[in-house]
Amino acid sequence: MPTPKKADQGSFTRDVLGRYICNGLDEAMASTNSANSPNARLFDVIVVGGGSFGAVFAQHFFSQDSTHSHRVLVLEGGPFTIPEHVQNLPIFAGLNVPSATSIQDLRSQGQFGLDQPREEVWGLPWHSSTKFPGLAYCIGGRSLYFGGWCPQLLDEEMPADRWPQAVIDDLDSTYFADASTQIGTDQTNDFITGDLHTTLRQLLFDGIQNGSVPDAIPLAARPKPSVRPPKTRRHLDTT
Ligand SMILES: Cc1cc2nc3c(=O)[nH]c(=O)nc-3n(C[C@H](O)[C@H](O)[C@H](O)COP(=O)(O)OP(=O)(O)OC[C@H]3O[C@@H](n4cnc5c(N)ncnc54)[C@H](O)[C@@H]3O)c2cc1C
Repeated sequence: MPTPKKADQGSFTRDVLGRYICNGLDEAMASTNSANSPNARLFDVIVVGGGSFGAVFAQHFFSQDSTHSHRVLVLEGGPFTIPEHVQNLPIFAGLNVPSATSIQDLRSQGQFGLDQPREEVWGLPWHSSTKFPGLAYCIGGRSLYFGGWCPQLLDEEMPADRWPQAVIDDLDSTYFADASTQIGTDQTNDFITGDLHTTLRQLLFDGIQNGSVPDAIPLAARPKPSVRPPKTRRHLDTT
């Protein structure tokens, strides 16, 4: 089906952002055909999937290309849904994370198919004996559901015998910090420090002191942290 030239009209929304941010495959292919335009060129790089990593890779590749002479095509299977993650927006917008399931289970309930996404955009990409929620088929993918955590891998999660040293060095020196900045987790807020957090910490401290937290581990018995500052995980929220 050819991509409509104008934005589609839904019951509540006109799809202006989707229409002018995205192209249909027919339009992308037409842009490679010199019969259509003297500027037509083939794509140099094709990224499959426009979720967090596909999008970051495409943007990174484009920015690193000092000549800006390479064409990058991101092939995304889902629709433009929301422009970016906003804390708790997915839940208010009805974009919950579905429960774990399998293709087999959905089929047996007659609920499997491209036309039957769960929670608006979720689908299962592969068969597995381990049930799982699947993927959010939309531009941005599961990053639209981000809680705002920038998981910096710890040393024990990047053992030298399994990770090339150059990769570890690149991650440590550049990419983790870049990701924190881009996600916004390099700035604190009152989930982490501030009046709210201080009050909650005081409540917890008082509870431990008066014996209301029976499972609390005495400070001296606490396992020695294996992280080195500032290489600690920062978690602003759990969505
Ligand atoms: C509720 C929730 C909260 C989260 N909170 C955090 C957090 O705080 N911090 C954190 O680091 N991580 C968090 N995550 C995890 C994070 O969102 C994922 O790890 C990350 O988005 C995975 O990125 P990805 O690019 O590998 O996959 P995805 O983001 O899932 O992207 C895959 C993309 O590929 C597309 N696609 C799939 N198959 C095809 C195909 N055949 N053709 C074309 N396109 C295709 C999909 O539509 C999708 O856009 C959270 C996830 C959820 C669900």
